[in-house]
Amino acid sequence: MQTGSCHCGTVRFEVDGDLQGIFHCHCETCQKLNGTAYGSTGFTAADQFRITAGNDALTGYESSPGKQRYFCSRCGAPIYAHAESNPERIGVRIGALDSDPGIRSKLHIWVSHKHPWFEVNTSLPEFDEYPT
Ligand SMILES: [Zn+2]
Ligand SMILES: [Zn+2]
Repeated sequence: MQTGSCHCGTVRFEVDGDLQGIFHCHCETCQKLNGTAYGSTGFTAADQFRITAGNDALTGYESSPGKQRYFCSRCGAPIYAHAESNPERIGVRIGALDSDPGIRSKLHIWVSHKHPWFEVNTSLPEFDEYPT
């Protein structure tokens, strides 16, 4: 089991089993919502993810139709995302984990949106959009 938390410690969560990923997403939405070059996500089954503290502080934002991104309303830390189109799956913001999840970086996606000031510069596969 993995545990995770936001920066201020209000929101805490647990993930059973292994996460899948890690995807580094360069889409404009991830850039804006994280304030970074890209967002980093590991996926888990929805029934293996639970909020254990701070549910009241968790705020959802519909970043695209049917997709909610949840963050701590006190410190602003991104926690997870959930899409109606894929209800069985949770995208965990991998930087919110408290320890090494054991999995390693797998893909760069939406590289077509990549900032010009950032070089991917790894041996990982790169995709212009979401790979099929
Ligand atoms: Zn917080
Ligand atoms: Zn993205």
